[in-house]
Amino acid sequence: MSHHSPNDLNAFWMPFTANRQFKKQPRMFVAADGMYYTTNDNRKILDGTAGLWCCNAGHKRPKIVEAVQKQVAELDYAPAFQMGHPKAFELANRLIDIAPDHMEHVFYTNSGSESVETALKIALAYHRARGDAGRTRLIGRERGYHGVNFGGISVGGIVNNRKFFGSLLTGVDHLPHTHLPDRNAFTRGQPEHGAYLADDLERIVSLHGAETIAAVIVEPMAGSTGVLLPPKGYLERLREICTRHGILLIFDEVITGFGRLGAGFGADYFGVKPDLMTTAKGLTNGVVPMGAVFATAEIHDAFMTGLENAIELFHGYTYSGNPIAAAAGLATLDTYRDERLFERAADLASYWEDMLHGLKGLPHVIDVRNLGLIGAIELEPIAGKPTERAFNAFLKSYDKGLLIRTTGDIIALSPPLIIEKHEIDRIGETLSEVLGQIE
Ligand code: PMP
Repeated sequence: MSHHSPNDLNAFWMPFTANRQFKKQPRMFVAADGMYYTTNDNRKILDGTAGLWCCNAGHKRPKIVEAVQKQVAELDYAPAFQMGHPKAFELANRLIDIAPDHMEHVFYTNSGSESVETALKIALAYHRARGDAGRTRLIGRERGYHGVNFGGISVGGIVNNRKFFGSLLTGVDHLPHTHLPDRNAFTRGQPEHGAYLADDLERIVSLHGAETIAAVIVEPMAGSTGVLLPPKGYLERLREICTRHGILLIFDEVITGFGRLGAGFGADYFGVKPDLMTTAKGLTNGVVPMGAVFATAEIHDAFMTGLENAIELFHGYTYSGNPIAAAAGLATLDTYRDERLFERAADLASYWEDMLHGLKGLPHVIDVRNLGLIGAIELEPIAGKPTERAFNAFLKSYDKGLLIRTTGDIIALSPPLIIEKHEIDRIGETLSEVLGQIE
């Protein structure tokens, strides 16, 4: 035991953070309201990233604040197994009301990573429940991000997230990613070239046999690895191949869910029907941790056989459907509906696109990508120092009052859907200045 000052920064080992850099030059938020954070030195920072792609309705939204306060005073926690409480059921119904039509059930988790593990396990157990226990292989995609747990990093395709952690899940293959900068750079919206990349699934099928493959998991639009868009026709082709071979298709909608693309879900936006959908983030506007896996009736019903008093799926979390999270979720869905935020995102998408593509021609910019209220600006890496240029852009933007996110040398943007046009302009102006000033 030793006594630490509350301001000591060392005890907290920060996630996905350059801890040594941060602790020399800390950046702290102490408040948030609408489109803005307030820092500990009392500066306003425009939120260009909706927190971490999650605060889709912006910050400190009155309905959500009130719902959480009320819930914590009324029913703080209820056991998640063999017990229920009304708000978890109410939220499930509301979620199914706004989900793609063929989705009929939700399984609650506490994060995107947990949603991914849950969906992969449901896929495996589904085949087994139907007497198809040989289907155990899982297929992900290069540069896919499916959270940080073992299943998720196994199907995920980010080298740094995998290479330090042993042999991971066996029986996993990866499709090629869909980023073709030589052919698709500076495309507005979905790129033209690359639908054929889905055909790689046929190669994997002929290698192992369809009867060994449980599921394919992809982000309908890959967010965390730098906003990699699905080429036109790609997701349709993936769906068709999966269906033909009895393979489940999982869309990881942790980012694309809840309005980000200007539709409820990526599945709606692209018009492609997955068998399972993983979500989190925007489900509660990021206010209380919660995730949900959406499943079709066909998947759910395959488990509802056998003895009525027997547990159907041996999986769940202490906080599945937590009352405070459920209350936050309900108030979040109310806010999205009352303020028509998904439609708003769709309406603003072309203004957003114009701002982003206006950055073409600035120093270091080698690609600009956009869809809905998501954007990416890819920078030419500094030789021998990958990630340095974008990280400097991040620090400079922060100095100028704008929060952006970077991954490698890609700047990713995903503002709250309440953003105003003048704030879109300001993002463009700040980035122009920043790109002109960094090495
Ligand atoms: N899947 C996708 C597609 C994501 O973008 C993320 C988070 N960015 C996750 C899973 C993991 O979510 P969490 O950080 O809540 O575990």
